[in-house]
Amino acid sequence: MTKLGGYAGQLLRIDLTNNVIKKIPLSKEMCIQYIGGRGRDAKVLFDELPPEVDPLSPDNILCISTGPITGLLGPTTGRVNVAAKSPLTGIYGNSNAGAHWGAELKYAGYDGIIITGKAPKPVYIYIEDDLVEIKDASHLWGKGTYETTRIIQKDHRGYDTKVAAIGPAAENGVLYGSVIFDYWDAAGRTGMGTVMASKNLKAIAVTGTGSLTVADPKRYAEVVKDAWLAVLEDPGFQTQEHAALGTLVVLGLGNAQGWLPTRNFRETVFELADEISGEAFRDRFNTRPAPIPAGRACLSCPNRCKRFGRITSGKYAGTKGGIEFEGVAAFGSKCGVGDLEAVFHAYMLSNDYGMDCITCGNTIALFMELHEEGILTHDELEGLDLHFGNADAMVEMV
Ligand code: SF4
Repeated sequence: MTKLGGYAGQLLRIDLTNNVIKKIPLSKEMCIQYIGGRGRDAKVLFDELPPEVDPLSPDNILCISTGPITGLLGPTTGRVNVAAKSPLTGIYGNSNAGAHWGAELKYAGYDGIIITGKAPKPVYIYIEDDLVEIKDASHLWGKGTYETTRIIQKDHRGYDTKVAAIGPAAENGVLYGSVIFDYWDAAGRTGMGTVMASKNLKAIAVTGTGSLTVADPKRYAEVVKDAWLAVLEDPGFQTQEHAALGTLVVLGLGNAQGWLPTRNFRETVFELADEISGEAFRDRFNTRPAPIPAGRACLSCPNRCKRFGRITSGKYAGTKGGIEFEGVAAFGSKCGVGDLEAVFHAYMLSNDYGMDCITCGNTIALFMELHEEGILTHDELEGLDLHFGNADAMVEMV
């Protein structure tokens, strides 16, 4: 078939049970009728998954996909989609992440990967353009997502190798295991990391050196320029608050407007919001001088949603990484915790263990409420004093 503009033009289909790798052309009909990675993944699962399939059985199918403009320079074009039947909900599961991994997959020559079966032992998939291998991951099983990523990058092409990894939480059956892309970006929702673990698949690493073409480069450049201007000229963007604080800017706003989830959403205003705000994070942990604190955007995006920081003293010294609003709200206001060090540490721990930080924080908040209501007793919590606001107990729960 003639390759459609924007697409790499082929999919990888990998059967882990039988160690079989196939490269299959992406049909024009599929591209047009189910535009984008999310649409294509839904179509594959709808066609190929029997409704009764156990999400953690080898019969589940894991799809990781990009769309036609992934890697093609417009704002927010670094996204990647992950889909399977969810072990958390028992129905269609879908999660989405940013970073650079999706674009790298397309530069390697693939629009997506369809993974079936279960490897007999822990493995990771390594892709370097035409080379696609299933490699032993025994030495990586049990390791956190940060160390896994570091080791794989060291064994291949350094930071040019982009890594999607799972952590020990998914390996141990936590139903909301995440897939962590390029250290800091999570496809966290619906347990896609747990599906990956059920297939004995620890990571997927990719290096791509190819390029992509579009059908009408001149017109595409105009559209991309308009999209960039729409973001850059937006009044909200021009305040530079998002650039300075990332999505954490929303925390103070939500508190002022009265919708900040607080103490398992029993309340919507948190009296310690200033302690865990974007401004507090910038002032205490920022690793770069003002005016623009350290942050990271996904590929080709002006938004820089993540704020980066490092704790340099105290019991959580050494904790570092990138955070956003949702995780801070989940471990912070939702648990009634105003200790920013503890919130930052819990957030980075959950990423390293490979747990969805949102579900993790929300689950702890629920347990806190159950404890305060006398439904979960002190003994059932093995002596943990799990009241709202207890930062140490919140970290211990993670
Ligand atoms: S930087 Fe933010 S807005 Fe841009 S793609 Fe990543 S998550 Fe989306």
